[in-house]
Amino acid sequence: MLGKLARFMRIMGYDTLYPNLEIPDTELIKYAIDTNRKLISRDREICRRYRDSILIESDNLKMQIVQIATIDPPDQTKLFSRCTVCNGLLIPGNGGCNEEYDPKKKDQVTHCQDCGKCYWPGTHSESVLKFLQSLELYTEYNKQ
Ligand SMILES: [Zn+2]
Repeated sequence: MLGKLARFMRIMGYDTLYPNLEIPDTELIKYAIDTNRKLISRDREICRRYRDSILIESDNLKMQIVQIATIDPPDQTKLFSRCTVCNGLLIPGNGGCNEEYDPKKKDQVTHCQDCGKCYWPGTHSESVLKFLQSLELYTEYNKQ
């Protein structure tokens, strides 16, 4: 339900798990307690049961991100530091992936240490950055 938000949170560097919806609430809450994680949900009931949770009420992605960032401000240095697919940390180099990217960007390529997916600066990351800048969460980038 909050897949898009989870993806953006990973782009912003938040350590974000996106659990299978089949997992019972009690198990999710236990896991959140055991791993000292916040629980972000649209489900009022689960948020009522777990103190360190954030209830998402807006359907608007911008509003959702602003809500999270207000509670837990993003670390600007962690922008584009996680894999959007699996939450793994990105490390320099292409990791042997065979995707095609602009050779000029060779030195900027990173890959996920867990699943190997490659990332490099491109039109997608530019539009993501523009979107985040529009939320005025990244003052340093806004100066450019
Ligand atoms: Zn990954």
